[in-house]
Amino acid sequence: MPPADDIAPIDPLGMTHEQFVRACAEHGIKSGRAMNAYRAVFKQGNTDAPPARTTIPPIVHRLTEDVDEGTTTKFVSRLDRPDDESRAHDTLGALAKDLRVEHLDIESVIIPMVGRTKKKTHTLCVSSQIGCAMGCGFCETAQMGLVRSLTPREIVAQWYSATHHEHTHIDNIVFMGMGEPLDNLDNVLSAIACLTDHHGPAVPMSAITISTVGRVDGLRKLAQVVQQPGWKRLGLALSLNASNDHVRNQIMPLNKKWGMDELRDTMIELMHIRGSRKILFEYVLIPEVNDSPDHARELALWLEPFMRTEKRGHIGLLNVIPYNPRRDSPWPAPDEANVKHFVDQLADLGVFVKRRRTKGRSTMAACGQLGTASIRKRKYVDLSTSATNEGHG
Ligand code: SF4
Repeated sequence: MPPADDIAPIDPLGMTHEQFVRACAEHGIKSGRAMNAYRAVFKQGNTDAPPARTTIPPIVHRLTEDVDEGTTTKFVSRLDRPDDESRAHDTLGALAKDLRVEHLDIESVIIPMVGRTKKKTHTLCVSSQIGCAMGCGFCETAQMGLVRSLTPREIVAQWYSATHHEHTHIDNIVFMGMGEPLDNLDNVLSAIACLTDHHGPAVPMSAITISTVGRVDGLRKLAQVVQQPGWKRLGLALSLNASNDHVRNQIMPLNKKWGMDELRDTMIELMHIRGSRKILFEYVLIPEVNDSPDHARELALWLEPFMRTEKRGHIGLLNVIPYNPRRDSPWPAPDEANVKHFVDQLADLGVFVKRRRTKGRSTMAACGQLGTASIRKRKYVDLSTSATNEGHG
């Protein structure tokens, strides 16, 4: 074994402190020294704290937009060419394309919020994949297709950049950026284990929310996870966007595999397992697609089992999000009167409903708008055959 000072640095990003201490112990480094290094990286933003060393993907693009609560910031981090680690995590086979590009960009958004107590907080919207395979018709990211899933360290790096480079204290994290988190569940869970580590980022579990379009297989795995100690308070959001299978099949191809009945049964099981924890439902309101009075009635019926009130308030809450037209969108944004009418109708039907204001529309940082036009338009050149293929989408 080499002397402790001669060993190659160990990267703690994406590791819990226990994992890092264990990795250090294999090189004869005492736990006290390892812990100091771990804290220096996460708490002080020191990327070179022997035996720890990490590199954070550079921010290559930054867009800000002033909103009532403060400033929304979208930042784009540039990844290196994929390394062996990311190749090992790529279960979806998309790296074949990825290997032919020089770099890949991931997007994250810092959103200011003012809560009921008037306290200002910041929510970080993180990406879990580059692009997405789910193909939702209203979503900018879908136009890219899936390039690849992110590793735990690439997910945690987004928190690191927001905290130490954008100098913003992050109160909440939502997995609502690029990608479907349940498509990359193992890496997302490893990243959350790091993000909630008290000696590291120390984001409370209850302040982290996974938002899914409803991969039923992933929801079933999540049901196991939230029964483990420390995971029960993990937040859950379901992007629903339709009131019946006909509409959902059209705008969310995933629904053809897992229809709305199966999805609801799985969500009810999860609700029972999670006790009084809230479930957020999201509904992107698209003119003439899902905004009629009949849609509101069907939606209220589908949501009925979740509209229970417990000691700490109601379980299910529906967020209605006026559609943000993506590039080349076939649909316009809904007008204000229709949004209000739809929301009022749901409230009258007993749904706990809120209308979400759109923050960041002009920076393309609003929900369903994360995507990189340059990747979408990029042509992948297969150097081995000199053939040229269009990218996904
Ligand atoms: S809405 Fe979410 S799951 Fe659907 S394509 Fe966009 S990123 Fe993927």
